Amino acid sequence: MAREKIIATQSTGPADEQFNAALRPARLDECIGGDELLEKLRISIQAARQREEPMEHVLLHGPPGLGKTTLAYVIANEMDSAIKVTSGPALTRPSDLIGILTNLEPSDVLFIDEIHRLTAAVEEYIYPAMEEYKVDFVVDSGMHSRTINLPLQPFTLIGATTRAGLLSPPLRTRFGIAHHLDFWSAEDLFLRCRMSAEMLKIAFDDDALHALAARARGTPRIANRLLRRCRDYAQVKGNGRLDTPTIDAALQLEGIDVLGLDELDRRFLRTIIEVYKGGPVGIEAVAATLGEETDTLVDVVEPFLLQGGLLARTRRGRLATGKAYEHLGIVGGPPAVDAGLFNDGDKT
Ligand code: ADP
Repeated sequence: MAREKIIATQSTGPADEQFNAALRPARLDECIGGDELLEKLRISIQAARQREEPMEHVLLHGPPGLGKTTLAYVIANEMDSAIKVTSGPALTRPSDLIGILTNLEPSDVLFIDEIHRLTAAVEEYIYPAMEEYKVDFVVDSGMHSRTINLPLQPFTLIGATTRAGLLSPPLRTRFGIAHHLDFWSAEDLFLRCRMSAEMLKIAFDDDALHALAARARGTPRIANRLLRRCRDYAQVKGNGRLDTPTIDAALQLEGIDVLGLDELDRRFLRTIIEVYKGGPVGIEAVAATLGEETDTLVDVVEPFLLQGGLLARTRRGRLATGKAYEHLGIVGGPPAVDAGLFNDGDKT
């Protein structure tokens, strides 16, 4: 069987999902991140509860694995509401969405993952549902056609997306709260690792968890996954305790380097440097050379490389930076090009 990919975005199977779900905090107070988002949510939840109304619609955007799904569950728990979970690609026809909407109970939370992948036809039904808690749909056709107006129970929509830029403006503006989730700090990741190690009853040294956190690509989902690999390694090759030599050896075996890059990250940078002379090169060309999906590269691989200064997005394509050459031990450096950055409207 294929190995689970370390930086895989979605769950990589039932075991991974179970593991993730078990480690999710249930309440806002258990959430890590001193971030203003938690405070904003706390206030909105309390205000909605006092008014006995559902909470405002929330849009969470940012790279995968940073906590969008977790927050949706936490919000539902804090509101004492049930949560229904679906995703953009699962809602292929308007009837799929209408079926879900009409079955919502008062104050339910509807979580739509990958909301940027809703089709325009489905999206149209979301607007009146979000604004006025109703759906209008046409039955029959020709002279017999009539519009049926169905009231819905008041609910909260929580949308998650890795690509806010692909969201249509009418949809985006209908969310009362919109927040970008950033990569986590090393300290927050350390807290996450410690929380997971304690929950899993694994003995550990603080230094070792700091080392692990530093290589988790700023992503709690990856921190948890690496922790699981290190636990296996410690159990089989060590004395069961997570100490620094164990973490180093386990991560080396997984191909995770000192910056937390894995095999695909390095192949991505090497392709730009060796095949495309450092760039600039279009993302589709890199994807074709690597035999990977463009979406995977844009959603999963690039954000961390951009943030780490190993990659630049220029008007003419992707460019490996001097830091990338240095990190990979390749002599030379990037070609001198006009490195004007894309603006946020860039669609890739
Ligand atoms: P996303 O939906 O953005 O892909 P998830 O919500 O699945 O990310 O988060 C991945 C994992 O990160 C969760 O299983 C959980 O263990 C951890 N996590 C996310 N957000 C938090 C948080 N605020 N506090 C503690 N752990 C978190």
